Amino acid sequence: MTNTKVPWCGTCGKTVTEILCHSCFEWWQKNDPEGTTQAENERAKIERLEALAETVKEFFKLLDTVEISSNDREFHPISISCCRNAMMEPLDCVLKSMKELSHNE
Ligand SMILES: [Zn+2]
Repeated sequence: MTNTKVPWCGTCGKTVTEILCHSCFEWWQKNDPEGTTQAENERAKIERLEALAETVKEFFKLLDTVEISSNDREFHPISISCCRNAMMEPLDCVLKSMKELSHNE
């Protein structure tokens, strides 16, 4: 029995000189599991970002709610307070950016 090493397709085992035969190559091109996973991950990421954007919009809707008090004065039932002077400006920047980005559609 001669034991000459014959090249074969790594997927279907067909005797070909290439690592993949032509039909398996095409199959892998269309059905690459890594490519599919990557596409699913990207889709999941986009869905998460869209949900985050909606949540941020809801957050500002709540934060911007104005009510009239019994003595006819407008007030915000929800407000964000900060007891650190040095953190007020960065907090303001973050809120401004969040608001701008959430309305930018
Ligand atoms: Zn093959």
